[in-house]
Amino acid sequence: MKTNKDIAELLDEPACEHNKKEKSGCAKPKPGSAAGGCAFDGAQIALLPIADVAHIVHGPIACAGSSWDNRGTRSSGPDLYRIGMTTDLTEQDIVMGRSEKRLFHAIKQAIETYNPPAVFVYNTCVPALVGDDINATCKEAAERWGVPVVPIDSAGFYGTKNLGNRIAADAMLNHVVGTRDPDPLPPGTERPGIKVHDVNLVGEYNIAGEFWHVLPLLDELGLRVLCTLSGDARFREVQTMHKAEVNMMVCSKAMLNVARRMEKDYKTPWFEGSFYGITDTSQSLRDFAKVIDDPDLTERTEALIAREEARIRAALAPWRERLKGKRVLLFTGGVKSWSVISALQDLGMVVVATGTKKSTEEDKARIRELMGEDTLMIEDGSPKALLKVVHDYKADILIAGGRNMYTALKAKIPFLDINQEREFGYAGYEGMLELVRQLALTLESPVWESVRAPMPWRVGALAKPVTSETVEPALKIQAA
Ligand code: SF4
Repeated sequence: MKTNKDIAELLDEPACEHNKKEKSGCAKPKPGSAAGGCAFDGAQIALLPIADVAHIVHGPIACAGSSWDNRGTRSSGPDLYRIGMTTDLTEQDIVMGRSEKRLFHAIKQAIETYNPPAVFVYNTCVPALVGDDINATCKEAAERWGVPVVPIDSAGFYGTKNLGNRIAADAMLNHVVGTRDPDPLPPGTERPGIKVHDVNLVGEYNIAGEFWHVLPLLDELGLRVLCTLSGDARFREVQTMHKAEVNMMVCSKAMLNVARRMEKDYKTPWFEGSFYGITDTSQSLRDFAKVIDDPDLTERTEALIAREEARIRAALAPWRERLKGKRVLLFTGGVKSWSVISALQDLGMVVVATGTKKSTEEDKARIRELMGEDTLMIEDGSPKALLKVVHDYKADILIAGGRNMYTALKAKIPFLDINQEREFGYAGYEGMLELVRQLALTLESPVWESVRAPMPWRVGALAKPVTSETVEPALKIQAA
């Protein structure tokens, strides 16, 4: 079990903006804020996309059952990560002191049934409280079956989801990164005059497969992605991360400790970037070339950017006409607001206000830079507050996370899901085409005209008495 000192060390993240202000890497949880996810949820969500690993949740069934697969991340190959595994502890297991034994058998079953390259074990509140030594159990199981078994000590009561992300990253750094060297390039893949550079992406989850929009660009430039932590990743890729020439922190500071510690331990430089919007995608590609400092790569990057921007701007032109001037209320937690603002501004849309509940001070500074000093930043994400802003600022659409969907739909406002449960990928130049398509489909859907029209059974209701003749047509419409 983690001690207070361990947790304090994880919370103290010098590379994080919050440290200066609150002397803490993560905001403290407020009473009633459990809906935002516990440390276990944060750890699991950060590592679950490693697709070929057996992920075992050591705890009562509800920990795994309530959180499994809550991010729409995709794999290009193995799908073992989609099988929910848990030790399913009961009161009897706890009373009889056999929870460690159950874990040992769960690891055995996972290895014998699926033959995974590694097993990850997530600790939860109950076994942490009764004092299970998951480190010892994992070590013994690894020795017995010759398969790496990685303990991730992430009991929910340690803190917030953000802390859980760091615990997960810490486990990777302590047990996995640096345990294998990358494979040599496959014969026949060399391109004359192009030097291949190895890179990592940290905090890229391949939601809805969106990273596949970006990967061909990196391939073309000769940037080999050793590992994306953790979208569409494999265990053997995480092992090689220490050999990268640069780390890119993609759109989230949740695993900032990976970048900072790899800079300290392996001298790997890092930068922060985003693949949302034309401007940010181009900037991220430029930043790779700048940090790697290869003049040929810089030249080829500029040529690729010029070609791709021209292509995508031509493809977006007809859509831009349809979306130009539309007013957006953006309320997003998972994807950095500034990154989406830049994408929407690329399309000529007007962002009337943006949510900043999970933004860092640096994020807020960037938002001001993009939207001006007087921009409205919303902290209160309650339905009432959001609808007030929609009404006061005459927003045409609400772009937010899935939990706000019913708020928007009940208020008959067009809605687009931008958070981790989204079904479409918006990253890279290609992602912009998908974004405009979804925005136009949502805004121009004929359903809004229908639902905003007066209810047929209300039209002239005052003039007509309620009879079976007036009520029946209305019921038929409802049933349809
Ligand atoms: S780890 Fe703890 S806080 Fe998290 S879901 Fe399980 S019991 Fe709840």
